[in-house]
Amino acid sequence: MFMNLFTRLRVGACAGGLLLAACQKQEATPAMPALPEHLTLGNPSGATADAAEPANYLLLKPQYALSYHRDRGIPNWVSWHLDADWLGTAPRQDDFRPDPELPAAWYHVGAGSYSGSGFDRGHNCPSADRTRTVADNSATFLMSNMMPQAPRLNQQTWANLEDYCRTLVGQGNELYIICGSYGRGGTGTNGFMSTLDQGRVTVPARCWKVVVVLPAGEEDARRVAATTRVIAIDTPNDNALGTGWGPYRTSVDAIEAATGYDLLSAVPAAVQQVVEARVDTGPLN
Ligand code: MN
Ligand code: MN
Repeated sequence: MFMNLFTRLRVGACAGGLLLAACQKQEATPAMPALPEHLTLGNPSGATADAAEPANYLLLKPQYALSYHRDRGIPNWVSWHLDADWLGTAPRQDDFRPDPELPAAWYHVGAGSYSGSGFDRGHNCPSADRTRTVADNSATFLMSNMMPQAPRLNQQTWANLEDYCRTLVGQGNELYIICGSYGRGGTGTNGFMSTLDQGRVTVPARCWKVVVVLPAGEEDARRVAATTRVIAIDTPNDNALGTGWGPYRTSVDAIEAATGYDLLSAVPAAVQQVVEARVDTGPLN
């Protein structure tokens, strides 16, 4: 899958024609390109930066990677690396805005697209995970990183797990976090809704997150082992949700079955088989 991804990116970069000779030279070099930091453990849906595939459009940002679904107006998934280097003192920017990196011809979800809906602009990659610089924090407020979340899910259940992730980093770990949403229809403070913004933003039915916990170190994909802690949750997008995230723990296999993605695909298959079948029973805070 990765060779495929990079081959396709390279073809895109070479589309200008005049660069063809140079690109052919690149093709001849055998070295495997380094994986982007935020896709170290894989590209769950084989997303590519190809506007002809609007249901699975790859955006690689310095701060996170995501697969965007044009017709849902939300990401399929967002993936990011979280270690101590990403955490600093930059204040929350709150500059919600359209993502200018999406193809210009597409509808751009805006800061006001969720207004009055009874759903929060819920971050996938959280603001508080990107505080190294003002620019890093601001990047989390692009609307391509948002999904409509019931306020209680966003501000309590989901926020509690986000806080715990940063606690794990404070305890000497680094994390790979992949989250996303699927299905259609949730219950916010104004009741059940399937879409917002005149049908241009889908309210997901479920929001999921997978957290791979490694002691801080190098060669991360190769260090994931059968004993590695992997936390997976799958929550209903419902304002009646409980505040603790523990009861929503599930297996990565269950999320893969529900979404059709292959999570942690850069981890050796034998290790995936073990860690993806397990349901976490570790501490909650
Ligand atoms: Mn949030
Ligand atoms: Mn997998």
